[in-house]
Amino acid sequence: MILPLASGVFPTLAPSDRSAIWAVTGRLGGKSEGPFSSANLADHVGDNQEHVDSNRAALAALVGVNHSDLSVMAPVHGGEVAFVGSAGTVESVDSLVTEEPEIGLVALGADCATIAMCGYRDNSQPIIAVAHCGWKGLCADILGNTVEAMSERGAVTFRAILGPAICGNCYPVPKERIQQVRDRCRADIAAAALGVSGGIDVRAGLEAQLADFGIPCTSIGGCTAESSHEFFSYRRDGRTGRQGLIIVLKESTNE
Ligand SMILES: [Zn+2]
Repeated sequence: MILPLASGVFPTLAPSDRSAIWAVTGRLGGKSEGPFSSANLADHVGDNQEHVDSNRAALAALVGVNHSDLSVMAPVHGGEVAFVGSAGTVESVDSLVTEEPEIGLVALGADCATIAMCGYRDNSQPIIAVAHCGWKGLCADILGNTVEAMSERGAVTFRAILGPAICGNCYPVPKERIQQVRDRCRADIAAAALGVSGGIDVRAGLEAQLADFGIPCTSIGGCTAESSHEFFSYRRDGRTGRQGLIIVLKESTNE
């Protein structure tokens, strides 16, 4: 049984018979062993597939869906968003959006930030998204592209959750990469991500961008590299698992 770092329901802002339920995981409580111990959710890192399947089923159960209801992206550190209407693996995108109930959207990371969003339409159904974002995703504006995709489908108000990610102190990078962030991100987002640490804090950049959009956001968990007990960290360990974040639209039951 995976132990979530946190879970909850996005507040209902407009009349709807659907609610958006989310959960954020670390590395505790799953079936995997060795470097993937124990709640690894990724099937591309060399872990035992039966363990991954068991962990994914436990992730799905955290928000009340089945393993077969998950939509999982195979991210490429880009800016592409996929609109999904069914479960399954989606290749080559870093963001998934759906308005369908009972599809668990999943983003994975092990230092990269993960994002869950709920978008509210006027007097209509909510729409949800997850995204995966490292420094390249920050430069590719995956967050802005996700907000835009949700807006095109009618969302006018948003809420966001950010999963655990590596901090700037633990993520020193070459000067060229800092310059790339300066060149390609908007100045205020770059300033937040670069801070004074000499590294890149992607989550701080995302928090600045969400604030600029006027989107309230809650960040879950600390720096992935600083707690080998709680988190997988690719930067720290290389061969390791991935923690995750899941969101689903559930039909409200009126009793
Ligand atoms: Zn750190």
